[in-house]
Amino acid sequence: MKPKVAFFDFASCEGCQLEVINLEEKIIDLIDVVEIVSFREAMKEHSDEYDIAFIEGSIQRPMDEERLKKIRGNAKILVALGACACIGGVNKLRNEWSVDNVKEEVYGDADIEGNKLFDAFPTKAINEVVDVDFYIPGCPINKVEFAKVVSHLAIGKTPQLPNYPVCVECKKNENICVFELGKFCLGPVTRAGCNAICPQFQDGCEGCRGFLEDPKMEAQKDVLRKYGIRLDDMMKRFNMFNYKKGVY
Ligand code: SF4
Ligand code: SF4
Ligand code: SF4
Repeated sequence: MKPKVAFFDFASCEGCQLEVINLEEKIIDLIDVVEIVSFREAMKEHSDEYDIAFIEGSIQRPMDEERLKKIRGNAKILVALGACACIGGVNKLRNEWSVDNVKEEVYGDADIEGNKLFDAFPTKAINEVVDVDFYIPGCPINKVEFAKVVSHLAIGKTPQLPNYPVCVECKKNENICVFELGKFCLGPVTRAGCNAICPQFQDGCEGCRGFLEDPKMEAQKDVLRKYGIRLDDMMKRFNMFNYKKGVY
């Protein structure tokens, strides 16, 4: 029997699910090993009977928490799909302000006039609400890594994420280090697996895949010292993908 797979989205841009669809004909290989029973972005059918749930997006409202707990109750394996689900991602930027301030900024005085706004709380990654079995990081995810995780899960093998920095892939690709171009990069402390795609196009890594398990902060600081970059500036960059708590 093939394991049944379902996809669910919460607060997200749905870009990670789109990456799954972008697998195109390679999706056929996946359908050989799993049965997709729910995938709103790609099909109309839906079933509440599934073994593996992929969760995209972060959690912002009590109704999201309730829904996520129900999914967790139904699934044997729950996988966080993408930075929003794994670490809160860009959605967690709003936690720099109070929920009331954010609502006021977005909706003005709509609430004051008695219009009902969604009940919301500070953004949570999904592991702040339920237990998560596996993580597929990135903003968006790497579709090749996704396919590998699915095929491992289908045969009962534990998927492993690389636990070395983006710099390793970057060096292997013989890229010019973007610090040499006067740019900034979080590659030394960020989990590899994206094939250093940003530095490949001479852009600094923004850390969308989150910290390594044991990030070598001293190595990052050495690089900053070498290029005369202030630690404060690095800390600000860590906010983009919620590095402060973004370890899984
Ligand atoms: S991780 Fe990035 S691409 Fe994926 S849903 Fe969130 S914002 Fe979109
Ligand atoms: S700091 Fe960035 S650009 Fe430089 S080697 Fe590491 S990943 Fe590549
Ligand atoms: S280089 Fe950094 S920001 Fe770019 S995809 Fe990889 S982890 Fe994400």
